[in-house]
Amino acid sequence: MGTPAQRKHSKSMDANAALSIVKELDRALAMHQYWIKDFYRFIICGESAPPVCVNQDAHLLCDFGRWYASLDEETFRLAPDVEKIGEPHKAMHDSARRLIESLPLGNEARKTSYLNFVDDSLNFKQAIHHCQSELLQRVCTVDHLTGAWNRHTMESRLREEAERVSRGSPPCVICMMDIDHFKTVNDQYGHPAGDLALSAVARFLMERLRIYDITFRYGGEEFLVCLPDTTLAAAEVLLNRLRVDLSVHPIRIGEDKTITISASFGIAALNAGELVADVVERADHALLCAKSRGRNCVCVWDIEPVSRQNC
Ligand code: GH3
Ligand code: MG
Ligand code: MG
Repeated sequence: MGTPAQRKHSKSMDANAALSIVKELDRALAMHQYWIKDFYRFIICGESAPPVCVNQDAHLLCDFGRWYASLDEETFRLAPDVEKIGEPHKAMHDSARRLIESLPLGNEARKTSYLNFVDDSLNFKQAIHHCQSELLQRVCTVDHLTGAWNRHTMESRLREEAERVSRGSPPCVICMMDIDHFKTVNDQYGHPAGDLALSAVARFLMERLRIYDITFRYGGEEFLVCLPDTTLAAAEVLLNRLRVDLSVHPIRIGEDKTITISASFGIAALNAGELVADVVERADHALLCAKSRGRNCVCVWDIEPVSRQNC
C-alpha cells in the first residue's frame, strides 16, 4: 500500500497513459543498451565514437532525452518517478563524456572514470525499473475512473487494518458511502456526464478526508472509506461535515453545466478480533438505514449486529 502522499492523490494517471510510459521506458532501456555497446566498442576497440557521446548536452539528444524533454508538468505531477529519471540519465551521459576525456590521462584516471560510468549507467537502469514498477503497481491497484483504490486493493488493506487493531492499536471506522439517486444523473445527462460526476465525487472525498484515511471504490457509485484511529463519534462528526459540504459542492459535468449531488453514509467500528467482512456488513446495514431515513444523512451502527442505533 502506498505512502500517505500516494493515498492522498487527487487524480491518478490514466492506465493507458501509464502503460504507454512503461513501454517508452522499455524502449529507452533497450536504446541505451545499444548505445552502451557502441560506446564500449569505441573505448575498448578504438572504433569511432558515437557522436552523441561527446556533446555537453548528450542527454538531450538521445531518443529518451528528446521524449523526456517533451513531457509536460502534468505528467510529472501525476507520475513523479518519471521526472526522477532525468537526473541519473544526465549523469550517465556526463560520465560517458568524462570517460572519453580521461582516455589520454593514464590508467588511474581511466579506471575512476570507467567505474563512475558503470555506476551511473546502473543508476539509470535502476531509476527506470523503479519507475516502471511504480506505474504498473498503480495500474493494478487504482480504479481508473475515479482514482480511488480499487476493490482488490481494499481487501488486502482492510485485512492489514484488522490485524493492526487486533494487535492493540486504536479501533478504526469503516464507512460505506453511496451517492443518492445517481441513476437520475445518468438518465438526465447521460452516462459520460455520470462518469464525470462519479470521479468528481471521488476527488472531493479524497481531497477532504484526512491524510491517513483511505478511499476505495467499492463498486458502482459506492465508496468505502477506512478511517484509522478513529472513534465512531469522531467519524460521525467528520462524515457529517463532509456530507453537508458535498451536498452544496458544484460538480462539473460539462463545459458550463454543474450539478449538486448528495450521498448517504453508513458507519461501523472495526474492533479487535473482528472479521473485516462482518464490519463491512454492519456499515452496509447502516447505509441502508441512511437510505431508508430519506438519504443525505449519516447512520451509525454502534452496537452488536442485531440492533441499530441512530438509524
Ligand atoms: P439510491 O439513492 O437508492 O442509491 O439511488 P441510485 O439511483 O443511486 O441507486 P441505483 O443503485 O438504483 O443506481 C446506481 C446507478 O449508478 C446505476 C448505474 O448505472 C450507475 N453507475 C454505477 N457505476 C457507474 C459508472 O461507473 N458510471 C456511471 N455513469 N454510472 C454508474
Ligand atoms: Mg446510489
Ligand atoms: Mg448503489
